[in-house]
Amino acid sequence: MREIVVVHFDELALKQGRRPYYEKALVHAIEAVLRDVGPVTIRAAHGRFVVTPGRRAIPAGLLVDRLSRVFGIHHLFAGVESARDPASLAAAAVEAARRAEAGGGEVVRTFSVRVRGNDRGEGRARPLEAELGGAVASATGWTVDLDRPDVALTVELAAGRAFVLHRRVEGPGGLPYATAGQAVALLSGGIDSPVAAAMMMSRGLRIGLVHFHSRPITSEAALRKVYRLAGALTRWQPTIFGVMVPFAETVQRPLVEGAPTALRTVLARRFMLRIAERLASEHRSRALVTGDALAQVSSQTLENLAVTDSAVRMPVFRPLVGMGKPEIVERARRIGTLAISEEEGDDCCALLAPRNPEKAATAEAIEAAESALPVETMIRSALDSMTRFRVRFEDTDTQAKSIATFLGRGRSDFVSRPYEEAGVSRRSIK
Ligand code: ATP
Ligand code: MG
Repeated sequence: MREIVVVHFDELALKQGRRPYYEKALVHAIEAVLRDVGPVTIRAAHGRFVVTPGRRAIPAGLLVDRLSRVFGIHHLFAGVESARDPASLAAAAVEAARRAEAGGGEVVRTFSVRVRGNDRGEGRARPLEAELGGAVASATGWTVDLDRPDVALTVELAAGRAFVLHRRVEGPGGLPYATAGQAVALLSGGIDSPVAAAMMMSRGLRIGLVHFHSRPITSEAALRKVYRLAGALTRWQPTIFGVMVPFAETVQRPLVEGAPTALRTVLARRFMLRIAERLASEHRSRALVTGDALAQVSSQTLENLAVTDSAVRMPVFRPLVGMGKPEIVERARRIGTLAISEEEGDDCCALLAPRNPEKAATAEAIEAAESALPVETMIRSALDSMTRFRVRFEDTDTQAKSIATFLGRGRSDFVSRPYEEAGVSRRSIK
């Protein structure tokens, strides 16, 4: 019996005029997260999609796991497809009940069956519910509880097809991949910036990443951590392009040698934004994204954020600006980046952080400091020595290889965990 998933859109339904555009984007996004296990058939019906595996069977639960991370999906139902005669429906209801039990991990004692959909026929629903309920009860030994069942089965009879749905899973909501355009997110090894990047992905932005590192002063582990964060973010955007920009010799040294100590951090941020803006405009990105939260640290005072932004013309999106740390940490846990961010890893900026950083840098002071610096040369030398990378959700080998290459080694112990998280090994998919 074939597993199917019924997908309900989130805000898409509201965007009346552009609905076809968003639906098409959602279809592409669904295909993209299933590319390595697919192919699948996606059919639009009654304001929702029905996703059906094609030639190859997809391991139970995998379809749901992948789809539950596609932005634009509000919620989904997992179920099985059935022929429409009562005997087939009864067999499908029993199968769905077993799947619900296997997937739920708890002891099941009670269940309910509801029949809905335009095709159910006048006066037919109740008798059918009773019949299917009887079949499930005798196959499982469960008893019927219509109010608070452990397992709720829904039989959908619509558009000439029949499904028995056994499990509702919440989606992440938001808008489908790349419907809002592109932006470049500044990714550090910290907790905040991956959350900021994922939040903007959820608004339909296709995100590219830029990380500034201080190799060889900072460790290789720090770089690996950033790669792994990028890898974790591929759960939300299946392919991510990024660049690693050397910062120590290109920007930090000139700052240490030629700029007022208290201004270093703000100046460094301005260089980061400038370099990110150049990269962004090369790739048709129209905005920058950072993980700043107002007043969290001294570089994030209102004054400092304002003079930081004045270095660039592109809008700088800061989705965390009004959040407290506990809320950000909780989000990081939910998107799967917290554990990586919490690992040891030295940060480029800690090196250069002055003991008494300026908390309210002025435009005049910044201008005076930068007029003594070879600003354009610094930016160019950073851009000239950057390294590009790409991480893909399904492609753990390529991830490991590109990291190994980047680190100048034959092999790396880097392994991202998307497969394990999805509960399947590589082999079981092939
Ligand atoms: P995070 O947890 O994201 O590192 P934070 O609270 O530690 O944030 P800062 O270190 O001041 O704050 O960084 C503010 C923002 O600047 C980060 O969220 C990130 O977007 C950007 N940023 C900081 N350091 C780097 C870096 N080395 N490479 C790329 N972006 C950086
Ligand atoms: Mg940081």
